[in-house]
Amino acid sequence: MEYRRLGKSGLQVSALSLGSWLTFGNQIPDDVADELMSIAYEKGINFFDNAEGYAGGKSEEVMGRILKSKGWDRESYIVSSKVFFGAEAKGPNRTGLSRKHVIEACNAALRRFQLDYLDLYFCHRPDINTPIEETVWAMNTLLQQGKILYWGTSEWTAAEIMEAIRVARDYHLIGPTMEQPQYNMLERTKIEKDYLLLFREHGLGTTVWSPLHSGVLSGKYNDSDPGDTRLHMEGLDWLKNRTLAQEKLEAARKVKEIADELGVSMPRLAVAWCLRNPNVSTVILGASKPYQLLENLTALDVVPLLTEDIMNRLDGVLKNKPFIPTYQP
Ligand code: NDP
Repeated sequence: MEYRRLGKSGLQVSALSLGSWLTFGNQIPDDVADELMSIAYEKGINFFDNAEGYAGGKSEEVMGRILKSKGWDRESYIVSSKVFFGAEAKGPNRTGLSRKHVIEACNAALRRFQLDYLDLYFCHRPDINTPIEETVWAMNTLLQQGKILYWGTSEWTAAEIMEAIRVARDYHLIGPTMEQPQYNMLERTKIEKDYLLLFREHGLGTTVWSPLHSGVLSGKYNDSDPGDTRLHMEGLDWLKNRTLAQEKLEAARKVKEIADELGVSMPRLAVAWCLRNPNVSTVILGASKPYQLLENLTALDVVPLLTEDIMNRLDGVLKNKPFIPTYQP
């Protein structure tokens, strides 16, 4: 396993990590979650990602029970949660980024996990109804209390992150260390364009999500629909419609030709493609079956195959590389 600094922070995070969205406490039984975490830990993954909103809080409970039963040194792993969407009971003060919800959600996550502190704590989305100043102060209260070690954002715009950094500077507080955006061959603008200044000037770290774009970049939908996947889960029609869009399937089919030429599977190529970006601190993997995780974990071996020429050819078929104007004097 390779370890990368989380942005300019001193924290070393495994380049591949494991997340629990839709799987833990929902799509997969607890014994499979247990097996996935064991595989991950044995292969050197040190970061497990979670959120209050995953399976209405059950995902944190399942992960917490597994962590407890394994008896791994607390120093050997990093665990996260996120606040915004609320857990099981939703309501005006049970969602969002107000001081009340940020503090209460953290305490509730710690109870569900049976942990004393969270290593990473994310604002899962921006909250237009709460001043950013209030959220930055709330995060700093949790830092001071030792309940969280680093805080960050997820799917915030560059301007919103910059505003949080400004507020933190004005009040001599600690600003966001990391952002958690979607990043994969089909969704790349935030990492490859919007955040460039934040990387360069502020050393923002990133824990990127959905490297396989919910499975479409595994290539398994290229010719037919395999059934039995997250896209067939109840209430996820929105994800299915968005993920299986015609242009995405067409791009996946073309990526498959390049993967075949390289002699690697599509999931390995897709994960390696994310790892190749130096502004990515860790790629969060998702898996519903142990074989998937085992396969995706070998993506680090594929990174050296991604030469400039191959990357250019992939850009040619993806047709979504953000344009970055460069002006020569
Ligand atoms: P992916 O896009 O990589 O999707 C993972 C899913 O793809 C698996 O659960 C499995 O689903 C399928 N899959 C994985 N590997 C293979 C394989 N080798 N062959 C075939 N199918 C495969 O990642 P996720 O969307 O799960 O995101 C990863 C993590 O990122 C989440 O668990 C969560 O922690 C985080 N996240 C954060 C978000 C945020 O807003 N901050 C949003 C979304 C995720 P199946 O078997 O059902 O097809």
